[in-house]
Amino acid sequence: MTDRLIIHCAPWLLPISHPPLRDGGLAVRAGKIIGVGRFQEIVRRYPGAERVDHTESVLMPGLVNAHTHLELSHLAHLSQEPVPASFTQWISHMLAERAKADADKKTILAAARAVLAQQQEQGVVALADIANTGFIQELAPEFPGHLLCCKEYLGLRSDEVEASLQNLETAGEAQCCTGHAPYSTHLQLLQTLKDRAKRLGHVFPVHVAESPAENDLIRFGTGEIRDFLEQRGFWDNSFQPTGTDKKGSVSYLHQHGLLDSRTLCVHAIHVTDQEMDLLAETRAKVCLCPGSNRYLGVDTAPVEHYLRKGILPALGTDSLTSNPELSIWREMRLLAEEHPTVDPGDILRMATLGGAEALGMEKTLGSLEAGKEARVLAIRVPASIQNTAQIQSCLVHNNAETIADYTTDQEHKST
Ligand SMILES: [Zn+2]
Repeated sequence: MTDRLIIHCAPWLLPISHPPLRDGGLAVRAGKIIGVGRFQEIVRRYPGAERVDHTESVLMPGLVNAHTHLELSHLAHLSQEPVPASFTQWISHMLAERAKADADKKTILAAARAVLAQQQEQGVVALADIANTGFIQELAPEFPGHLLCCKEYLGLRSDEVEASLQNLETAGEAQCCTGHAPYSTHLQLLQTLKDRAKRLGHVFPVHVAESPAENDLIRFGTGEIRDFLEQRGFWDNSFQPTGTDKKGSVSYLHQHGLLDSRTLCVHAIHVTDQEMDLLAETRAKVCLCPGSNRYLGVDTAPVEHYLRKGILPALGTDSLTSNPELSIWREMRLLAEEHPTVDPGDILRMATLGGAEALGMEKTLGSLEAGKEARVLAIRVPASIQNTAQIQSCLVHNNAETIADYTTDQEHKST
């Protein structure tokens, strides 16, 4: 990394935190953004700075993938198969294939490493990964961005809680730990995990309201998830449903003190209007995974409502077991297809600032602002583009055809 002051110039600049700029300039020194504005103004402000031109390009902050399971990457064949008949059928199939593959650490890491390299190529600068094995942590030093690894706990039976709590005591304080979902993780375990995350200032990602079947269980303790849990011996009648058809997973988490600004509700599809208010009031974060949701056929999230309530969701790819392609660009395109009234500018905010906020990294990532890390993408766009609406639409609706040049470190690549 160089200490030289460099001004990056491009016909378009998308700061995300501010309206797009024509003929923008971005002053960078020692890996940090120190100035953002119109090119002429930035040049006046920093005389003598080295200049790098990015012709026919847009500069924007790096992307954030707020939900992955890299340790499942060796099971990519699952999402190439026909769509499963039900949510629990997919879970059963995934668990069976995982057991059958019985992959060793080397195999798991090789597949995960390949996915991580793709993420980097696609301009992802931060990921939140959920894992049971603890192997993925070893890849963090290889990734030039931020790889947040969360160790996941689950088990709904009372007699499983003690063993998990003992295991949790062995986790170092730097280790982020979380629970899988309200339908798979005992309340006492979820509460202990959340208390720990609060004490240590960690993010607490949890799968929430992914399938309609989940709400059947949370509301009444019935349905296909109950059947699945019973069949596998994961059910012991200790689960206390909310008992009303108006209160699903989000209400359940709120009722038990599990929602705050560091709780990241992943999927959050089957959420009532009142539950969205709870998310807004507690400033809990939401991560949408349109590609995974489409494959599993679990419906689409109420994106327009979230935005109207002042909630900016993050985007995540989930794993290759439920999503045939792990690309935040594709997630943006799918979301735009499914929600044509959502402003493409908001979709770009979700993929950048929304993700940074979800990971508690909004002070350093997610937008082009002075003081943040200079993790910037230079993306080639057609010269014919005339206005900001066109540029936002071009980025959200297209993929490789127009996005020709990524770089996460302008200082190295542009010389
Ligand atoms: Zn997931």
